[in-house]
Amino acid sequence: MESKKNNLAIYNSLTRKKEVFTPLNGEFVGLYVCGPTVYSFVHLGNCRTFISFDLVYRYLRYLGYKVRYVRNITDAGHLENDADEGEDKIAKKARLEQLEPMEIVQQYTVDFHTILNRFNNVPPSIEPTATGHILEQIDMIQKILSKGLAYEVNGSVYFDVEKYNAQEAYGELSGRKIEDLIAGTRDLDGQDEKRSALDFALWKNAKPEHIMKWPSPWGVGFPGWHLECSAMSTKYLGEQFDIHGGGMDLKFPHHECEIAQGQAATGVKPVRYWMHANMLTLNGKKMSKSTGNTLLPAELFSGENDLLEKAYDPIVVRFFMMQAHYRSTLDFSSEALNASEKGFIRLMEGLNLLEGLPTSAASSQNVQQLVSSFYDAMNDDFNSPILIAHLFDGVKYIHAVNAKTATISQADKEILLSEMRAFIFDVLGLKELAVAGDNSLDIVMELVLSMRQNARETKDWATSDAIRDKLAQAGIVVKDSKDGVSWTKS
Ligand code: AMP
Ligand code: ZN
Repeated sequence: MESKKNNLAIYNSLTRKKEVFTPLNGEFVGLYVCGPTVYSFVHLGNCRTFISFDLVYRYLRYLGYKVRYVRNITDAGHLENDADEGEDKIAKKARLEQLEPMEIVQQYTVDFHTILNRFNNVPPSIEPTATGHILEQIDMIQKILSKGLAYEVNGSVYFDVEKYNAQEAYGELSGRKIEDLIAGTRDLDGQDEKRSALDFALWKNAKPEHIMKWPSPWGVGFPGWHLECSAMSTKYLGEQFDIHGGGMDLKFPHHECEIAQGQAATGVKPVRYWMHANMLTLNGKKMSKSTGNTLLPAELFSGENDLLEKAYDPIVVRFFMMQAHYRSTLDFSSEALNASEKGFIRLMEGLNLLEGLPTSAASSQNVQQLVSSFYDAMNDDFNSPILIAHLFDGVKYIHAVNAKTATISQADKEILLSEMRAFIFDVLGLKELAVAGDNSLDIVMELVLSMRQNARETKDWATSDAIRDKLAQAGIVVKDSKDGVSWTKS
């Protein structure tokens, strides 16, 4: 296990290369992932990012690390746009629905947890909220002010990006240069309190109609969105910690600002490995609430959306996501999901077959090497699609042993069974499909027909006839044609 640990390489978005993972504190790993702004239902795109980091969390734990996984809930401070203008997203929703902001927060936090639970995500170790950490945020602003890297105007405090940039490079993570950023921003027309359009709010003075506000040394107001992650990651993981993750679209400005805030307040770079998950797309475009190009998990589980041919089990959707590397974009389609469903059933069927496989004195295949390939894939920046391809190498071997064209020893069978189970269930976070719901018969039939196909391939006519007869008794007619096998229920 020790050697497996030493081989983990992570692609660091900051250095733009894969680096061998060496945690700051031996076996302890600090992992921070930006959580949702809880003002609407999570869409499938959001879920992809959280499932990607669930894989990271699971694999780190599988390697034996003690991981403190912190994922925040943004329940205040996230304004409608990045220019520190517009309404707070949660307060706006509360106003429109005539509810308390905390009712909005509660409703969508519960939805978020329910959905991630259905995807079999492991809950984080700590799930802190922005509103629960106002004091920590005020404290951090004071530290930045004391370094002369922020300024107060009319009860608001802004981070001074150009002054910071004179000491430390701003824009390193997103590869932006400050001159280009300045050229790309609108001129301040004297109306704006900021010294430069690049500056961002650490604290905003609250107008009387603003609902969520707190007292501070600068008057009544509320924290800027970027600040909560800096304050909470520092509190729970320290001034410098191992891994920080989030979706690609958070790189700029959110994470760039986090780096600047952390460095300004503490004098050290807050994060050693920055990880960014790529986007789920729909019709080739980013799935996004603001454009309406979204699909909700609940629609997928019920099949109630014109884009879908039928309902899908959350675990099939998870498998579909695992079939792409987290740094690649992934396009959603019903056809792709159908293919994933078939693949997942084949994988589980292989695993189930392995349990009852006859053993021989020796194995005809190098099982150690096969198992190492599982680790190698995951050690190469959590490459789940390559892992899945190797798991299917295992399935192919299992079928060959079953067909008596290959052999496996008892010891190898035990190793393969335990490692395949571990990678499928513990690392990829998959589980057996619930045999319930509208598509359960489809799933069972898929399995039965593939068993029948195996029997036919090995000329086991007794089994294939028995399957056909039993199905006929249950009123299911199987038809073989040149296009493949189909079935109907009479
Ligand atoms: P939000 O609540 O908007 O801050 O988003 C929560 C998380 O979902 C962030 O890490 C985003 O980067 C991520 N996200 C948003 N849209 C997508 C998408 N289409 N695909 C993958 N991740 C996304
Ligand atoms: Zn964040």
